[in-house]
Amino acid sequence: MTVPPVQETEPRFPNTLGSILTWALFRAVAVILVAWIVNEYFTMVDYSVWWAVTVMALYGFVIHPAQVQYRLFKENTREIVEDTLCASCRHFDPSSIMCTALDEHVSENHIPCEGNMWEPV
Ligand code: SF4
Repeated sequence: MTVPPVQETEPRFPNTLGSILTWALFRAVAVILVAWIVNEYFTMVDYSVWWAVTVMALYGFVIHPAQVQYRLFKENTREIVEDTLCASCRHFDPSSIMCTALDEHVSENHIPCEGNMWEPV
């Protein structure tokens, strides 16, 4: 009886630079929308307080989470970016941890072309 290979059901790296920036943009739009609504419909809020809260909300909901996600992304991908065959290949995109030639994600244990398409940077 043979055991079927284990299939990865979730992407190894859920965050890439693109997804980090995209979600930061979505959060920024949400914060700006809420700030605009508060400024427009809650006139009892002092303008200087509104500015301060808006800037703090932008930092707390947009900038800081993006910084944390980016740091985790760098930590999680350090080994791949520095120590794999793909790291020295011209087809490797470190911002998305992808092989651009085959349009597949790369991992420590998975070199999509198995070295056959490797080209120096
Ligand atoms: S061509 Fe091969 S070695 Fe180069 S990035 Fe793609 S999978 Fe890695």
